[in-house]
Amino acid sequence: MNNRANYEAIYRRSITDRSGFWQEQAAFIDWATPFDQVLDYSRPPFARWFVNGTTNICYNAVDRHLAERGDQTAILWVSTEVDCRQQISYRQLYRQVNEMASLLVELGIGAGDRVLIYLPMIPEAIIAMLACVRIGAVHSVVFGGFAALALASRIDDASPKLVITADAGMRGGKVAPYKPLLDAGLAAVTVAKPKVLVINRGLASEPHPIAGEIDYHQAVARHAGQEVAPVWVESSHPSYILYTSGTTGKPKGIQRDTGGHMVALRMSMRYIYGVEPGDVMFAGSDIGWVVGHSYIVYAPLLTGATTLLYEGLPIRPDPGIWWSLVADYKVNCLFTSPTAIRLLKKTGVEWIHKYDLSSLRTLFLAGEPLDKETHRWVNEALHGPVIDNYWQTETGWPILTNFAGLGLMDLKFGSPTLPSFGYETLLLNGVTGEPVGAHTKGSLMIRPPLPPGCMTTVWNNDQAFVNTYFSRYQEPLYATFDYALYDEDGYFFIMGRDDDVINVAGHRLGTREVEEALCSHPGVAEAAAVGIKDDLKGQEIEAFVVLMSHTTPPTVEELKNVVARQIGGIAKPKYLHIVSSLPKTRSGKVIRRAILAIAEGRDPGELPTIEDSKTLEVIRDAIRER
Ligand code: ATP
Ligand code: MG
Repeated sequence: MNNRANYEAIYRRSITDRSGFWQEQAAFIDWATPFDQVLDYSRPPFARWFVNGTTNICYNAVDRHLAERGDQTAILWVSTEVDCRQQISYRQLYRQVNEMASLLVELGIGAGDRVLIYLPMIPEAIIAMLACVRIGAVHSVVFGGFAALALASRIDDASPKLVITADAGMRGGKVAPYKPLLDAGLAAVTVAKPKVLVINRGLASEPHPIAGEIDYHQAVARHAGQEVAPVWVESSHPSYILYTSGTTGKPKGIQRDTGGHMVALRMSMRYIYGVEPGDVMFAGSDIGWVVGHSYIVYAPLLTGATTLLYEGLPIRPDPGIWWSLVADYKVNCLFTSPTAIRLLKKTGVEWIHKYDLSSLRTLFLAGEPLDKETHRWVNEALHGPVIDNYWQTETGWPILTNFAGLGLMDLKFGSPTLPSFGYETLLLNGVTGEPVGAHTKGSLMIRPPLPPGCMTTVWNNDQAFVNTYFSRYQEPLYATFDYALYDEDGYFFIMGRDDDVINVAGHRLGTREVEEALCSHPGVAEAAAVGIKDDLKGQEIEAFVVLMSHTTPPTVEELKNVVARQIGGIAKPKYLHIVSSLPKTRSGKVIRRAILAIAEGRDPGELPTIEDSKTLEVIRDAIRER
């Protein structure tokens, strides 16, 4: 049986016999009480998976491995910021998680209580997450790069009883304060003030914690050797809240369950990522993002694999750092974003070729469209396979992907391949709502019920779940808000966000099409395209291009012509600017709505998740030269 036929058979079953398929997958998880129903979909679009089964994530991620792999490394921590490397075995992890859980209990935290975690990439971050789920508490991790206001809005939304933070982190060799930002955030909250637990790393100049706060190291010392029995919760008990990246608007608070979450992640490791117990996985992301939750923390530990937790930048001390870690720790599976690879691409392939990467089986990339040229470049540099996988904070694991564990299907550069198990995808014409055929662009929708592991609701707001995601068409379908097409083999290509679609004289173009054409030029590192209002044509294209550093720079006209040649005259940008940087979210996604606002002379409004607001000036300066 070739791999495609094998995939087709399993995929079809995952849709036509959902219960049978997921029941089998649930056997990879330990349950305290077995579930009596695989799926309850009596209240659409709310799905409950593994009804009345009781289980515990921490038990499955830690305790369960003690007998067989207690001495195996669970967490490999590498910090190029504080120059430290540490290996924590499953047995040591068990001890530390129990001690922290015991401290949480002493602090009055119980099942259902929220705990906000605002920490750098240190082992205590993972330990805190596991300690929470051990006692049924619901964690909400806030990315360490966010500042006071982002913290305040998340505290107001989740009303945590406790915040766990550090005195400081380090970024690019400089001290990055955490505690002072939290203080500023807490000053702005409207809900009851949570308790504050501070992990003192000795990095900040001022002493922390201050009066009324708890010093983690002192407090946890009193819990040395303590054990806390895992709290068995019903499968749909919330495990965590995590906010989306805020690329297209206000971040949404995604709620994940317990049982479905575990079953889906464990399945994804076997079939998609091809990671087995004992393997080493390195997800070069941050625990503050969904890739970090799923593939730094939960999926590797649920699998009994080793996870590499990296505190530092991908290009410091030099652009070879990640590849040196792959070589040093015999990493089998690497996961990062197209942005990170484009950054490394600018520095040259020699950094990759310097190291022995024979342990590395696959590189996975997700988070934004992977242009063909970058996909081809990195695939060639690593001698394959590089797998594009498409998903969202909402889903927690891939919607579209290739399957390294099951047996790869042919790769097509620029495509995240085919629908993952359990996702009944539909591509609909945005205007008529009719399904579109091959090579025709449409809005990517999913027919509910969403598979296990996907969001169960918007935190504290069931109505927002229904209104935001299921209200576009008569039939309640889940909207991904992405624009896509599939080819003659059914392979998908994501064309951009469906609210960014550019309409030039009646031709609907995804931002990706224009950006892809620009990126095919060897002198281009990255590009962003937006559709600005035009009285005559409806919209005109304005493009912004960042050039590669080590090639002869192309001219503006040359780049405009590349687009005209590849897509057609209608797509030729009216304006094209060569700029030094693009406005991005802290998770590395281009914020096109900010670029568009500036290009149309509007105020981009509040951008709480922007990485560097100076990039807005770069766009303003460019516009002036029209
Ligand atoms: P918000 O929903 O708050 O506006 P966001 O959509 O950027 O922010 P995430 O959940 O982090 O928040 O990102 C999911 C989105 O990222 C997808 O909907 C899609 O637009 C994009 N994306 C993720 N992976 C891929 C991929 N492999 N190819 C193309 N786009 C991708
Ligand atoms: Mg989104």
